[in-house]
Amino acid sequence: MNLLTNAIEAIQVGIEDYEDGSRRRLLASVRNVYAGLLLFYKEALRRKSPPESNEVLIKAQVQLQKNPAGKVVAVGTGRKTVDSHQIQERFSAIGITTNWKKFENIRKARNNVEHYYSTINAEALKSVIANAFVLLRDFIDRELHEEPRDLLGERTWDKMLQIAEVYQVERIACDETIESIDWNSPTLFGAVENLHCVECGADLLMATPTNSPRDQVSLQCRACGNGETAEELIPRAISDELSWELYLSFTDGNEFPYVSCPECSKESYVISERKCAYCDHEATHICIRCGDNILPEELDSSPLCGWCDYMKNKND
Ligand SMILES: [Zn+2]
Ligand SMILES: [Zn+2]
Ligand SMILES: [Zn+2]
Repeated sequence: MNLLTNAIEAIQVGIEDYEDGSRRRLLASVRNVYAGLLLFYKEALRRKSPPESNEVLIKAQVQLQKNPAGKVVAVGTGRKTVDSHQIQERFSAIGITTNWKKFENIRKARNNVEHYYSTINAEALKSVIANAFVLLRDFIDRELHEEPRDLLGERTWDKMLQIAEVYQVERIACDETIESIDWNSPTLFGAVENLHCVECGADLLMATPTNSPRDQVSLQCRACGNGETAEELIPRAISDELSWELYLSFTDGNEFPYVSCPECSKESYVISERKCAYCDHEATHICIRCGDNILPEELDSSPLCGWCDYMKNKND
């Protein structure tokens, strides 16, 4: 099997599927583009695999062996190749980079088309193809050191470029509506700009009505028409935006990036801003009884820290 040829063909077929436009082929398009991306990632790992390691970096199973010179080396075994999670681990171990956030959105879209087959349409796929285009262009250029247009072929490349340009125009129109709202929180503003439709996964969300107060704003998906109110979208945007920081709070013991708001109970109290992104409530972060900092997870007992709150209740 020639990995690189397979990677190129998967993308080419994916673009042909997209052009055909029928539902069946649109579904195939997302599958193929996703498969193609993974194959390009594997190609990068294959190229970095040491000689005589049986392409160790793309094999799911790795064995340690002694080579004829008596040195211990890692060798790939079995037929199974790495999954997306292993690719991510190996990239970070050997210093290959890609935009994992973009990739994750494409992966989600790929899973979504299986589950929401009925709502998938060409509009929603535009953002998937456009994001794949940017990812591939950067990856082929920076990590494979090849010319993307030559590798994918002029026809496929021009089509991807065209889809990406149309998408870009729509994206700018969406951004303008988002910028018309006073979000009153840099975290929330960034979060809404990065938000994807909860139904179809497209990142083509328009804030409506423009210039409206934040709590009355809705987001409308340009791709599938789904609407989301401020009450729904603000906590979702915050949790999406801060998911990595939240993960680190569990693995590295960092403080929680956001917590449930003591005032409105939405999961949108942003610790770094000391303010709720939904209702603007600013809690007291210093305990009025002992003067200590109140931990984020104890903010619901503010203005008392968890300990003082406990002592007070005990004495009541
Ligand atoms: Zn949508
Ligand atoms: Zn609140
Ligand atoms: Zn206290």
